[in-house]
Amino acid sequence: MTHQDLQNIARDYGSPVYVYDAAKIASQYHRLTAAFSGVKNLRLNYAAKALSNISILKYMNSLGSGLDTVSVQEVDLGLIAGFSPESIIYTPNGVSMEEIEKVASKGVQINIDNLSILEQFGSKHPDVPVCIRINPHVMAGGNANISVGHIDSKFGISIHQIPHLLRIVENTGMHINGIHMHTGSDILDIEVFLYASEILFETAKNFDRLEFLDFGSGFKVPYKPNDIETDIEELGTKLTKRFNAFCKETGKDLTLAFEPGKFLVSEAGYFITKVNVVKQTTSTVFAQVDSGFNHLIRPMLYNSYHHIFNLSNPDGKERFYSVVGYICETDTFANNRRIAEINEGDLLCFKNAGAYCFSMASNYNSRYRPAEVLWLNGEAHLIRKRETFDDLLHNQVSIEIPVSEPALAEKK
Ligand SMILES: *Cc1c(COP(=O)(O)O)cnc(C)c1O
Repeated sequence: MTHQDLQNIARDYGSPVYVYDAAKIASQYHRLTAAFSGVKNLRLNYAAKALSNISILKYMNSLGSGLDTVSVQEVDLGLIAGFSPESIIYTPNGVSMEEIEKVASKGVQINIDNLSILEQFGSKHPDVPVCIRINPHVMAGGNANISVGHIDSKFGISIHQIPHLLRIVENTGMHINGIHMHTGSDILDIEVFLYASEILFETAKNFDRLEFLDFGSGFKVPYKPNDIETDIEELGTKLTKRFNAFCKETGKDLTLAFEPGKFLVSEAGYFITKVNVVKQTTSTVFAQVDSGFNHLIRPMLYNSYHHIFNLSNPDGKERFYSVVGYICETDTFANNRRIAEINEGDLLCFKNAGAYCFSMASNYNSRYRPAEVLWLNGEAHLIRKRETFDDLLHNQVSIEIPVSEPALAEKK
């Protein structure tokens, strides 16, 4: 999609607005499947939490993707979007036994990540196949909040607890059909990833009814111009070789699964905002846009980088700006960033706005969540309306408040 397309969308749907380029989602999907074309049975399960709009889910389904979910609500969204229960995997953390049973009853593959639930579930439903999430204690991620493989992480069953796990499986007679790991986001070092994979293979040898091995996700995408990213092709070559050797060695015809979120949708997303105010202080020039961390929290939450360009004046002389929002709280999107000269009313466009952007948006400051538009086959499709005042009041209960004594006294 072109700058002109983005401008037209902002004109037609207003700002702020999220725009997703379907062609980019498809090319990422095909890049990953091509990298693993040497694997006989490959499954990509899109991690719904990255961007869970129903039309995006439908689009993923049309590409042939499965779905990775973390809540019963995501499961239901997936079912509504047309995914079959068998093409959904449910990988929650710290949810109740009731929720897990509810999801299992829908025919969705469940993935259990703690021994307490494993024992409870195995005792009650020994015939329902279960995948187990292990924690190989390998630090593969970037920021501490997105790295989930470390020893203090709440995710997964520690590999040091495998003996206990095996005892539960034996005592309950439950059916383990998959082993899973997800070590964190922004993986760059393929050797570290392969090292963690060895732990998965080693663990897998304990189970004779396995159907799949799930290597999670966490592929890093480029954020800055010329940024480094996970070398998917190299990972594909190396892991394919190792995976095929493992299948041969153990005589098993396994499926290799991944559950990418960011890799599939991050770069497909653009977030367009309008500059309300250009504010010169003694030390900085602020460009204040009609948004804030209520709409895009990643810079404040993870210190993440979103490239920002001036859609209205792309070829203007570059100057340094701090791009901030309009909410009453510090909501810095970018500090001291070189951007083509900004005037009030200009449209600023944020890149990498597909993953964990809209899906983390809130109504903080009683602002509306933005509209979402899918750019598909050269046409803009509105896939979520901008909220309205009614949405803010929806679900609120306005009760009768008795007038207090002091207020009555004051009135007299
Ligand atoms: C969030 C999550 C993913 C997706 O991670 P990305 O870094 O967006 O690819 C995959 N698997 C699980 C279990 C997750 O929680």
